[in-house]
Amino acid sequence: MRIKGSAFPPNSSVRHSAELDTSQAGFVSLIVDDETIRCDVNWIEISVPVGKLPIRFKLPDGWMFVAERSPQISQWLKANKKSGWVDKIEGNVFAWVFSALICLCVVIGSYHYLLPWVSQKVAESVPDYVAIALGNKVLDSFDEHWEKSQLPVNQQQQIRLRLQEHLTQLSPLPYSIEVEFRSSDMGANAFALPGGKIVVLDDLVKLAQSDQQLDSILLHEVGHVHHQHMLKKLVHSSLLSVGVSLLVGESSGVIDNLAGLGVFFLSNGHSREAELQADEYAKQSMLTIYGSSESMAEMFELFRAQEWVEVPEWLNSHPDFEQRIEAARE
Ligand SMILES: [Zn+2]
Repeated sequence: MRIKGSAFPPNSSVRHSAELDTSQAGFVSLIVDDETIRCDVNWIEISVPVGKLPIRFKLPDGWMFVAERSPQISQWLKANKKSGWVDKIEGNVFAWVFSALICLCVVIGSYHYLLPWVSQKVAESVPDYVAIALGNKVLDSFDEHWEKSQLPVNQQQQIRLRLQEHLTQLSPLPYSIEVEFRSSDMGANAFALPGGKIVVLDDLVKLAQSDQQLDSILLHEVGHVHHQHMLKKLVHSSLLSVGVSLLVGESSGVIDNLAGLGVFFLSNGHSREAELQADEYAKQSMLTIYGSSESMAEMFELFRAQEWVEVPEWLNSHPDFEQRIEAARE
């Protein structure tokens, strides 16, 4: 068999048309410019790259022969046991399945361990102004359905001041907290937005029978801010490229897209893990501020008692409800 290709002299990039004669077993002959260079197959270095890339034959005297991959060459390589490792694996079902499993493990591992870790790092590094702008966008979207609060301005201001006073006793937060009041038919509820805004619905204030009970829920929301749950969730759910855009501040279009996602997440609640973290934060804060977390358990019980209301986001996993009340009491 004669393989057509190109040859390059030793240490030169000058291309010569050439042929490689493989008809003699155990030997190859490079025919270039009427000259024939014959050598033992065992002395030539053959590089077999992946896929359809050209194959290079390096002769001991420095000549290089390059040829396109063809079925004939592949057959000759196989006969002379010179095929590349990829070719070998292609022919080995076990190795193929093994490789597929490794790939699957890498993908699953990345999703469960690498992605959360990266999300956390990205969320922690997002500039404050981006997080605040994102929170404002989410609030704008909600405000299309929500009304202004009916609570007296005095009462709103009292709650704000009381919370700010409490926060001075707690460890510093990633963002300063701003409380917004709204009226909605969603029932007794509150939401922590990215960037430190907490939205409190009137029905929540009405449901609480004491300042301490209301504070326990506000502190639960502060817990979400402390752990940056919403931002992490948004980064986690979005592509890494979105995270990078946020980091470099190239964020105008990205914020709009994320705001839509934020509305969806706030409407559907946090993960069980995030809720338990926020509960724990609220409990420890209540212990620091009031010396007791009993009001938190009482507030959870008030939620349980009002069957007519949609279940608020922090109680959205029913089986955990009793546990959460117990945990608040421990
Ligand atoms: Zn929550």
